[in-house]
Amino acid sequence: MAEETIFSKIIRKEIPSDILYQDELVTAFRDISPRAPTHVVIIPNKVIPTVNDIEEDDEVTLGRLFTVARKLAKQEGIAEDGYRLIMNCNSHGGQEVYHIHMHLLGGKPLGPLLMG
Ligand code: 5GP
Repeated sequence: MAEETIFSKIIRKEIPSDILYQDELVTAFRDISPRAPTHVVIIPNKVIPTVNDIEEDDEVTLGRLFTVARKLAKQEGIAEDGYRLIMNCNSHGGQEVYHIHMHLLGGKPLGPLLMG
């Protein structure tokens, strides 16, 4: 069994967070330290530590991350101007929380993909 992180507590509502969407497969909530006017984190409810740990059985769940991203981008009013979806993997990718997540960022021009 993969080790739980703080995101499992968010899914179970054991710690407060601004949850925008939740169903049987995924949960989406506002990032505690937003890097853009809209910064939402979309995660599978199942603990998958990194993209390296994804299995074929996870394909439906991971597809749900995208349909929820699309819905939330519309809800946040950023769909037409555009936005960025990011998944970081391990240390070189800048991953801090080892429960895979998709960042939905938008609300301003985000500039080039890689900074710094
Ligand atoms: P990573 O760097 O792993 O791709 O992104 C992890 C993200 O989770 C960061 O943007 C960080 O601000 C966010 N985060 C970490 N802990 C919490 C928390 O307890 N609540 C919320 N809402 N976001 C968190």
